[in-house]
Amino acid sequence: MQQNDTVTQLKQEFLDSLEAHFAVSLADATDLQRYQALAAVVKQKIATKWRRTKEDYRDTGAKQVYYFSIEFLPGRYLRANLLNLGLLADTEQMMTELDVDFTAVMEAEVDQGLGNGGLGRLASDFMDAMPSIALVGNGNGIRYRYGLFRQAFINGYQVEYPDDWLKNDDVWEVRQDDEAQVVHYGGNVYLQDTPDGLRPVYDGGLDVLAVPYDTGMVGADNDVVNTLRLWSAEVPEGVKASVSERSVIESISGELYPDDSNEEGRRLRLRQEYFFSSAGVQNIIKHHLADGYSLHALPFQVAIHINDTHPTVVIPEMMRILLDEHGLGWEEAWGITTRTVSYTNHTLLAEALERWSQDLFAQELPRLFQLIQEIDRHHRVSVASEHGEDFAWRTSPLQDGQVHMARLAAIGSHAINGVAPLHSQLLQDKVLHDFYILWPAKFSNKTNGITHRRYMHAANESLSALIDTKIGRDWRKLPKDITKLRDFNMDEAFLRELAVVKRQNKQRLADWVSHNMGIDINVDAIFDVQIKRLHAYKRQLLHLLGILTDYLALKHDANAYVAPRVHIFAAKAAPSYHYAKQIIKVINEVANMVNNDPAVNDKMQVVFLPNYGVSLAELIIPAADVSEQISTAGKEASGTSNMKLMANGALQLATMDGANIDIIHAAGAENAYAFGMDTDTVYKHYEQHDYSAWDIYQNNPKLHRVLDALIDGTVPNVQEEGQAVFDSLIRDNDEYFVLGDYESYVDTQARLGQDYQNQQAWTRKSLANIAASGEFSADYTVAAYADEIWHVPHNLLAQQESK
Ligand SMILES: *Cc1c(COP(=O)(O)O)cnc(C)c1O
Repeated sequence: MQQNDTVTQLKQEFLDSLEAHFAVSLADATDLQRYQALAAVVKQKIATKWRRTKEDYRDTGAKQVYYFSIEFLPGRYLRANLLNLGLLADTEQMMTELDVDFTAVMEAEVDQGLGNGGLGRLASDFMDAMPSIALVGNGNGIRYRYGLFRQAFINGYQVEYPDDWLKNDDVWEVRQDDEAQVVHYGGNVYLQDTPDGLRPVYDGGLDVLAVPYDTGMVGADNDVVNTLRLWSAEVPEGVKASVSERSVIESISGELYPDDSNEEGRRLRLRQEYFFSSAGVQNIIKHHLADGYSLHALPFQVAIHINDTHPTVVIPEMMRILLDEHGLGWEEAWGITTRTVSYTNHTLLAEALERWSQDLFAQELPRLFQLIQEIDRHHRVSVASEHGEDFAWRTSPLQDGQVHMARLAAIGSHAINGVAPLHSQLLQDKVLHDFYILWPAKFSNKTNGITHRRYMHAANESLSALIDTKIGRDWRKLPKDITKLRDFNMDEAFLRELAVVKRQNKQRLADWVSHNMGIDINVDAIFDVQIKRLHAYKRQLLHLLGILTDYLALKHDANAYVAPRVHIFAAKAAPSYHYAKQIIKVINEVANMVNNDPAVNDKMQVVFLPNYGVSLAELIIPAADVSEQISTAGKEASGTSNMKLMANGALQLATMDGANIDIIHAAGAENAYAFGMDTDTVYKHYEQHDYSAWDIYQNNPKLHRVLDALIDGTVPNVQEEGQAVFDSLIRDNDEYFVLGDYESYVDTQARLGQDYQNQQAWTRKSLANIAASGEFSADYTVAAYADEIWHVPHNLLAQQESK
């Protein structure tokens, strides 16, 4: 290897840092010490750019975007930061020269898991995209003391362990005591006449100190470093709190709720929502005024974006500050608020639309509740005259003793978007239809995106390097340029190289599985991957029924043709989601049965990798041949693992749902495996009540046999869980139509299995997916938000069309 100055300097900085922080030599240092020492070097490099970025924003008076999200799911920072700083290759070389296992060093970093899944990961993708396109955008969220639980399997059952991620300190964060804010809860509030008009008087309640911890969000190959600000709850200085009061306060940022879609409406969750929303808004307005701007200039200086409804209390909180603390009139305060706030909806599941009991809300946030009553009254008055009382009632934030957060968000913001074309259409037509009638111009679509830097450049270096050899490096800055790869789809040598890279990535994953799970998987087989939260609508069960179908076929006839597959699952289930956990148990028992049956296991294996998270995703995704995206059509808003897998050359086996549709369209239908009912068919069944799982079970002997295997002892150790699955599918006439798509699924899998046997044709399809993945870069997504919603500049070129 050629000696290079950067490597020499980096080496010196690294060794100095080891000594300065830990008083050890390289030889004596642990992987954790090596990680922390290297991270400190990297942080120093970030710090200079970060300070300059902040000064620059202040000096130029740039409009700031604040992305409010109750979850961020960054994963590990070290590798991504090195990549964005342009130091990854040099660091790898340095580690080689020092004979240090760089992978082990990187794995000493905890996987920061302050989110459940797609929503939090999207927020972190945006945090990477914003500085990379020189967009002035910050994150605002909660610094949970405990992140999403660590998952292990015991006897096939999910067990949950606390995620003590701060045990070894977080190298990247900076505590900012002078930026702390007080957040107030509870007590009584009444309005008092003062010379300045009616003013609220607070009586009792709880003051909580919100202390921010900032982390620099590093732009790729530029000098921009933005800020992710996460708030931690503490007892305010000078307040004497009893042990129990202290624990009440600290619990506010104590732990992440481990449920990604069906919240139970718990008091603590509402406190969390208000906590980061209030601290964030107070802080923003404080700085806005300190910089010399008037409150009327707020919508021109600040865009607040709420990632789903969890931060909706931003709206009444802003009203509170403008009215109560600054004496603005209702109309002017309302104008400022609505022009500042915009909202992304993330779900089509009715049970996931947030609602709070009005009693609970009024107890916890009495002043905000008064303001919501006022917002509610204004709304009713303004729409009733034109649309009638019934319409006003259907759209009002307060109804049936509940506070409806999506309605409040729709009324109190100037823009509402869905996250894939189908999802945005369904919002307009169904979920938020009444609001669409009121304000059609508020609605738009912004298809989700992923950061190709983390999921391709960093996670799949060899693929990225191979692409560079064909089309140069421009695609790394302008991801859509990757379409140039299409010119090489007849280049047989290139196709072979692509296949070699895929195989290396499969081997890397196989090594991990062997080392961590003691199972040797066949890298010549199809790696058939389904990685995402465990949820009935995502239908891991359909995949499982497919596995059982192959298994029974092979048991019945040893010569039956089944294309060799390794089925790879990874998924956490919410601890309270009993059914999802039962499904995990059944999958694990089927895995055991299949993997230990010599009659089948040269044709099929099943592995369920524990503790799914960002780092595991980075290992699995480059190794995937098939991307299972098999939700019931009309249920998955967008999905993003579908995009990550596509970019790494996996072919989609997918229903026409969420962004699957757009991925299939981009890659070409011939390069994907679409199957199953579409949204219209699903909705028709709901309307006509004509779906009968029982009939399907009775009329399909193959499926009949597969389902019986769950309850007749064929699958061992699942007496209770197998029955539960069976009952849910048949007795309860499963609302996710697993059986309705079964035949289509197994037929499509069989066709896919045949196609895989022609390696060259398969790799060509894989190439078509990689070459079409550019448009799903979060850089374009964020640029579209910037152009159409936030109205802030960025430097992403060739932003030809908005998504
Ligand atoms: C991308 C990602 C998700 C989202 O996956 P979907 O299939 O879109 O639900 C969830 N968790 C992790 C760790 C991810 O990286």
